[in-house]
Amino acid sequence: MTTLERALVTGGAGFIGSHLCERLLNDGLEVIAMDNLLTGDLANIEHLFGNARFKFFHHDVTNYIHVPGRLDFILHFASPASPRDYLELPIQTLKVGSLGTHKALGLAHEKGARFLLASTSEVYGDPQVHPQREDYWGHVNPVGPRGCYDEAKRFAEAMAMAYQRHHGVETRIVRIFNTYGPRMRLNDGRVLPAFMSQALRGEDLTVFGDGGQTRSFCYVDDLVEGILRLLRSDERLPVNIGNPHEMTIRQFADAILELTGSGSKIRFEPLPVDDPKQRRPDIGKARSALGWEPKIPLQEGLRRTVEYFKAKLGALAR
Ligand code: UDP
Repeated sequence: MTTLERALVTGGAGFIGSHLCERLLNDGLEVIAMDNLLTGDLANIEHLFGNARFKFFHHDVTNYIHVPGRLDFILHFASPASPRDYLELPIQTLKVGSLGTHKALGLAHEKGARFLLASTSEVYGDPQVHPQREDYWGHVNPVGPRGCYDEAKRFAEAMAMAYQRHHGVETRIVRIFNTYGPRMRLNDGRVLPAFMSQALRGEDLTVFGDGGQTRSFCYVDDLVEGILRLLRSDERLPVNIGNPHEMTIRQFADAILELTGSGSKIRFEPLPVDDPKQRRPDIGKARSALGWEPKIPLQEGLRRTVEYFKAKLGALAR
């Protein structure tokens, strides 16, 4: 009998973590999801509990992590990740990026597991180079409100590289750009849940600033495919995974109004401090090193996502 590969996903009850757990189970692995449920939600993984290859550990990874048995992979996705979440939880965000990454790397070293860090386009800050390539070092305000997230992830990247160089741990770093899909939290403050729930409820869409700032939105299934290709690859330096299709937030609001057929109006609100003016990944490296590029067009991804939000809002209304 061949032994199955075994993976630990920290933040496994979160938006991206839960999709990763599901995909790894579908690929035939044993999966342990670990989460302290601060921003994660058991509802995201409830449907996995019937699978004999799935386990859930309720644990805060900033404390010593004990996992019995072998581990082949550790995917470190634990962290508050929306601007509203990390503004409300700045210390937990710094702790999970620093102490949590240290604990998860220590576990990888101990188990001889390959480690993949969920990093972020926020390491580029409010970028002065466009689109962002992996060799751009970024433009981050360490003492601004986003500093707790940006610097925690920059520290986490440095820590992963130190474990790779000093201890020989196999590490991979994915820099995740704006991602969307089912299981985003309704009230995490991010632009997609905000606009979708406003449009479906007939409320004004709250566009921050003049809506001229840009983002590039990647559907979660595309992201997960890119992450798993990176995990299996030999690429030891960071790789951007995101969708290079860039649009203004105003255009994004219009796309959601069109999709939902909502009669909601746009309401302009002040731009948050240090809100990046533009963001688009250069995915040349993902293309050449992983043979990856996103496949799901925005209209299709939004169509799938709106079904989830309709069901969520319907359940709330009952
Ligand atoms: N945004 C907005 N209205 C909202 C929420 C967000 O206009 O209700 C804008 C926000 O200012 C930013 C963009 O949408 O320019 C993306 O914000 P999000 O919080 O989703 O993530 P970010 O890319 O800033 O990390």
